[in-house]
Amino acid sequence: MELSYGLIGAAYLIAALLFILSLSGLSKQETAQSGNYFGMAGMAIALLATLADPRVDNVLIIIVAMIIGSVIGLKLAKQVEMTQMPELVAILHSFVGLAAVLVGFNSYFAMDHHLLQVLTDTQIISVNIHLTEIFLGVFIGAVTFTGSIVAFGKLRGLINSSALMLPHRHKMNLAAGIICTFLMITFVKQGGGDFTLYVMTAIALLFGWHLVASIGGADMPVVVSMLNSYSGWAAAAAGFMLSNDLLIITGALVGSSGAILSYIMCKAMNRSFISVIAGGFGTEVVVDQDKDYGSYCETEAAEVASLLSDAKTVIITPGYGMAVAQAQYPVYELTRQLQAKGVEVRFAIHPVAGRLPGHMNVLLAEAKVPYDIVLGMDEINQDFQHTDVVLVIGANDTVNPAAAEDPNSPIAGMPVLEVWHAKNVIVFKRSMNTGYAGVQNPLFFKDNTKMLFGDAKESVNNIISAVK
Ligand code: NDP
Repeated sequence: MELSYGLIGAAYLIAALLFILSLSGLSKQETAQSGNYFGMAGMAIALLATLADPRVDNVLIIIVAMIIGSVIGLKLAKQVEMTQMPELVAILHSFVGLAAVLVGFNSYFAMDHHLLQVLTDTQIISVNIHLTEIFLGVFIGAVTFTGSIVAFGKLRGLINSSALMLPHRHKMNLAAGIICTFLMITFVKQGGGDFTLYVMTAIALLFGWHLVASIGGADMPVVVSMLNSYSGWAAAAAGFMLSNDLLIITGALVGSSGAILSYIMCKAMNRSFISVIAGGFGTEVVVDQDKDYGSYCETEAAEVASLLSDAKTVIITPGYGMAVAQAQYPVYELTRQLQAKGVEVRFAIHPVAGRLPGHMNVLLAEAKVPYDIVLGMDEINQDFQHTDVVLVIGANDTVNPAAAEDPNSPIAGMPVLEVWHAKNVIVFKRSMNTGYAGVQNPLFFKDNTKMLFGDAKESVNNIISAVK
């Protein structure tokens, strides 16, 4: 069934409104589910309207491709663990980048280059605009493609998560930017040019790779949301090339919300937005591997259980290890057990705890922990000094005092949960290994801290049995 252009325009408008409602719903835990439904409805309308567009032919091929893509997508999304979600997001961004590159090349080769000789002035202006769209679309797409692959590799542990520090790296980035600007001017002035397009694509692919490779593990959350933003701009550029309004709107929504999120996260981590997106500019740090931190003290589940039973106030700070151990269910069971004994239990959530923004909130919501006892870093940080026991469950970098006390630390300046001000701190982890940023944590060696070694789920279960 083919629809008129007017109806397609109306369907695109409704889809765009649904996408905006979706974004606004996703900004709060309570409305996140309805946000997802709005997004799904918007996407379904957008797909159907596109298929019904009279300018779209080969509908059968598109449907077959959609079915194959949906089956692969469903299978992958079902298999993927919550902790692997950022990897999935990163690799999906790379597809958006690749699609923008392919759309750009297709738009370029579909142009009738012989006609360029006989165009009027007005036509030349619109051709120049189209050539600029193609050039920028391919550039942003190529940077997003390789950048996202490196982010995927780093998150998966296939590529070393520390920052690649090539000599003159900032000069190389600057040179890549200047050369590509020069190539774009040549490309538009000459009415195109296969060689120019190929050279720019090669530079953009290397640039994207280098840009993300030179960003260290602690800044990865910003990179993931920054690539989210790039993929949006790549989609918007593809929308301009295809004269598709909905793609332009959707791309702009994703691009700007990703950029806003990156900015908010940079503020939360006290990082300069420009320095992170410029490939870690100004983040030279010295890591003192041989530093003596003193000795640490071990504890056992029974001892922690009696400490908790005697406490009036308890704060739980979860991190990546809670996600790995899937300890959120017993953690909530322990919470209820303590609440039944009259202990006040709250959760403190660092904005980048885990491996994706909101990771801990999702896990706790999964275990049905009520939202009113789950507090953000700024809401609870000043309460640690009045707290009897803090349970650090699989968190490490996000509770590292070095961020506040050691200016040479790779995570210096990043706001952290100041758990060490509490009377007693219990750290749940399996060994003395470092966290994601690869930095030792002086918290483990403080007098009021005790280490409870073992898998977090098992340790919490042992405490539950001991409290009973
Ligand atoms: P970390 O990654 O710093 O530390 C996690 C700790 O969990 C490790 O020390 C590990 O120690 C422990 N652990 C792992 N598995 C288990 C288990 N089964 N049982 C008990 N403990 C376990 O976690 P944080 O959440 O504190 O910090 C997040 C880090 O990830 C930050 O550096 C952040 O910048 C980065 N990041 C965050 C993203 C985000 O958007 N949230 C995205 C990408 C990176 P051990 O091995 O000894 O058990």
